[in-house]
Amino acid sequence: MIDYQEILDAIYVKLQKRVDKGKVASYIPELANVPKEKFGIYLNRIKGENFCVGDWDKPFSIQSISKVLSFAMAFARLKNQVFRRLDVEPSGNPFNHLSLLEMENGIPRNPFINSGAIVIADMLVTLLEEPKEEFLQFVRDVTGDQTIQYNIKVAANEAETGFRNYAAANLLKSFDNLENDVERVLDFYFHQCSIEMNCKQLSDAFYLFANRGKCMRGNSQLTLNQVKRINAIMLTCGFYDEAGEFAFEVGLPGKSGVGGGIVALLPNEFTITCWSPGLNEKGNSYLGMLALEEFTTQTNLSIF
Ligand code: GLN
Repeated sequence: MIDYQEILDAIYVKLQKRVDKGKVASYIPELANVPKEKFGIYLNRIKGENFCVGDWDKPFSIQSISKVLSFAMAFARLKNQVFRRLDVEPSGNPFNHLSLLEMENGIPRNPFINSGAIVIADMLVTLLEEPKEEFLQFVRDVTGDQTIQYNIKVAANEAETGFRNYAAANLLKSFDNLENDVERVLDFYFHQCSIEMNCKQLSDAFYLFANRGKCMRGNSQLTLNQVKRINAIMLTCGFYDEAGEFAFEVGLPGKSGVGGGIVALLPNEFTITCWSPGLNEKGNSYLGMLALEEFTTQTNLSIF
């Protein structure tokens, strides 16, 4: 029998002691002002008890983790049509990289880099009557928590500083891979990035990807085959130019965000979320990566 609480406690104590906790994202004050000492983990087991440690109940900006949820919503509705406008290959480049998009004629490498998520945002803006409201409702429903909100201030600051996202959206437009106005699509994208959740809520939201498409409460409308594909894209593209490293060290599909959150999962077994706002040079949570590596090593639970 694995003593999950003992393992999580030991990881927490060991990593919290580290002097080097990475660098908190500094491009907007709401992220720059989050104390580096914050650190939480929440393990949601599919067929068992859940475990947590530290700041697991403190909300943080989910940022790029939202890309999995927006992709899931578009994929559930548009099915394989989504792949007419983007690919599913790892980019090997930072999340906001642009030259690959130019070279590949405006077809983003995958839905989890910024340009790909902007194309997905465009699809949702076309598809939904009230895009921001309906997407937030989707996130609340899959999580089973109606309290989840956008942080309007974060969304506004993302817009003020989002020069590379404007560049990506304009490039997509020039290649005819953006149906709606740049402003409208980016307003949606900046809002999705601004969603705040805690470790428990993120573990609950991603439960469906570990549980064959069934949410904590109710159904996601994703087929088992779609869930398989989303998990495959998380494994290969969830960490930008550190996706190989994450697969190598941790061995789970997952997704990170510049707010310092990482959510990862083992199908049929568990979802786990770590939050520590200090990032490594690739923009992924420094302690979060280390914590997950320790967790899969100590429990011997990974997809490999
Ligand atoms: N809002 C950020 C951006 O678009 C999200 C990036 C991230 O979390 N990697 O630049």
